[in-house]
Amino acid sequence: MRKPLRYAPFYERWLGPPPILEDRLGEALDCGDCAMKERYRADLKCCTFFPFLPNFVIGAIFHEGHPATLNKLRSALTTANVSPLGLRASEGWKELRSTLGVEAFGQATELLCPFFDRLENNCGIWKFRPGVCANYFCRSSLSPHKWKKSEESINLVEWTLAHCVLWELGLTKDETDVVAATGEWFEFGDDKEGFFRRCYEKGLSLSDREVEELLGFET
Ligand code: SF4
Ligand code: SF4
Repeated sequence: MRKPLRYAPFYERWLGPPPILEDRLGEALDCGDCAMKERYRADLKCCTFFPFLPNFVIGAIFHEGHPATLNKLRSALTTANVSPLGLRASEGWKELRSTLGVEAFGQATELLCPFFDRLENNCGIWKFRPGVCANYFCRSSLSPHKWKKSEESINLVEWTLAHCVLWELGLTKDETDVVAATGEWFEFGDDKEGFFRRCYEKGLSLSDREVEELLGFET
């Protein structure tokens, strides 16, 4: 599986091609033939990681309805920390990662991302993988500082867009802060799949200008 140097196509709806592309045009990794075989287990690769999956991306996966991807999502929704903002690692997963330490990256099956497809030996939500995964390049001539900045900016955009979607669905900014702090579902808890579908639709309906205004900075 070829990994082009860009966000998942879904994200370009709002973000366009990543600025970092200008520096690395034409470079790509082949994740199907992992470049880090000597460092990471071939059946885990760099996916001993638990990314934040924003609410609108969860909705996009439901909307597409691909059975294999849906199975992965439904299973993750039962084990992860799920709130109206999206899906994150559970406290148990975080404790395990902290217990196992940094040496476990690429080595510990227990830390494998719930979206990893073990049969295909690749990401099971490739088309919808979050920015942190799309942006991760294990081999790069760019400085770590530049990658870090790029990753932080994608994380911020995802986290903020997930908030924007909740505002658009009627929550106040204070209520959204409560969601972020406690995972409170307010009136959305009865039909979570329907809720995430609405997040996707709401996200898609945001124009570039609205997103810029809501984010308070230029994407
Ligand atoms: S990004 Fe991950 S899967 Fe892709 S080549 Fe690098 S370590 Fe392997
Ligand atoms: S979402 Fe995909 S690329 Fe990201 S850690 Fe999970 S399996 Fe790997």
